[in-house]
Amino acid sequence: MTAVDTQAQVQELRRQLQSLLEAATANERKLDRFDALERRLMAVESMEELVNLLLVECRADFGLDAAELWLLDPDGELSRALPSLPMAHAPRLLENHLPLKDLFGAARTARLIGPGHGEALLAQAFGDGTPVRSGALLPLIRQGLLIGSLHFGANDAERYDAASGTKFLDRLSTIAAIAIESMLNRERLRRAGMTDGLTGVHNRRYFDHRSLIEFSQAVRHRYPLACLFLDIDHFKAINDGHGHPVGDEVLRQVGGLIQRSLRTGDLAARYGGEEFVVLLPRTDLAGAREVAERIRLTVQDAPFITPEGGTVSATLSAGLAMLPAGAVSFAELLSAADRALYEAKRAGRNRTIADTAGEAA
Ligand code: GH3
Ligand code: MG
Ligand code: MG
Repeated sequence: MTAVDTQAQVQELRRQLQSLLEAATANERKLDRFDALERRLMAVESMEELVNLLLVECRADFGLDAAELWLLDPDGELSRALPSLPMAHAPRLLENHLPLKDLFGAARTARLIGPGHGEALLAQAFGDGTPVRSGALLPLIRQGLLIGSLHFGANDAERYDAASGTKFLDRLSTIAAIAIESMLNRERLRRAGMTDGLTGVHNRRYFDHRSLIEFSQAVRHRYPLACLFLDIDHFKAINDGHGHPVGDEVLRQVGGLIQRSLRTGDLAARYGGEEFVVLLPRTDLAGAREVAERIRLTVQDAPFITPEGGTVSATLSAGLAMLPAGAVSFAELLSAADRALYEAKRAGRNRTIADTAGEAA
């Protein structure tokens, strides 16, 4: 072997070593990015933050052109929980498994798709019209069940090629599925802690907390705040005459009727036994009286269906008070509404009476 051959071999080895080093550095950087993402996924505090991380930040960090999250929501639980979230990119909620079945079949493993390997699925997986030429479709699986999927897409047709490994992506989808499930469980717990189990309206604990916020905002921004106390008339007689389960059913339906009579931003809660309280921000006396009367008449006219399929009727009385100018506490407003309710009962029930201080205001 000549000296020139040896030199050429050394140069070739150097080149190989250099490219191995570059590949190792690139892998390390990739690992670091995945690692940082995983840590953040495990630490998210809200569904909004989670969705933002998966769809907006991932896209920027990994230089993607599209990202989508599909979540299975057969009973509408997510669609009730999510619309209030101001999200840059909302997840697509699926009523059934069919769209997921189209993507993954029975395999339920990560799919890399691009020219010549399943590209027909791209249009299905990326619905927003972004031109995507290759993509990774990651099934989200919890306890053996497919709960959704995460899609990353690129304009670059080579970005996800069929022969690439999916180890990082598999790991990411496992962690994303755990984060989504734990966030949903937290959301369920949070809601359970705020709502009354029988009627589904907010509970007293939540009302006590929210009412103080509503009160201070109304005072600070000088807008009217109306408070209604609603109490079912002779409810004891319904229990005594038809049984406690019928009483429960009436309560449940009254809760629903009240809730449906309100706008977003209004607050209804079960205050105690057969008594509900409603707060109407930015509503004046005339407007509040209208709401109270609408609820009263709806209840008066409603046939309440009993568990046996019969019907009973019920009425309620309403006491109304307005946040008085210069009010010192929310308790003052509440007790004014309570006094008005007592007046309504005394005057014969099934009526709305406004607190006189409110009438003058
Ligand atoms: P008024 O018109 O003066 O309000 O008479 P009332 O009978 O509605 O009022 P009272 O306070 O005498 O009775 C309220 C009843 O509501 C007594 C209580 O047993 C019943 N109650 C409270 N909570 C529940 C509940 O969750 N389910 C049922 N079925 N009854 C309840
Ligand atoms: Mg009552
Ligand atoms: Mg009562």
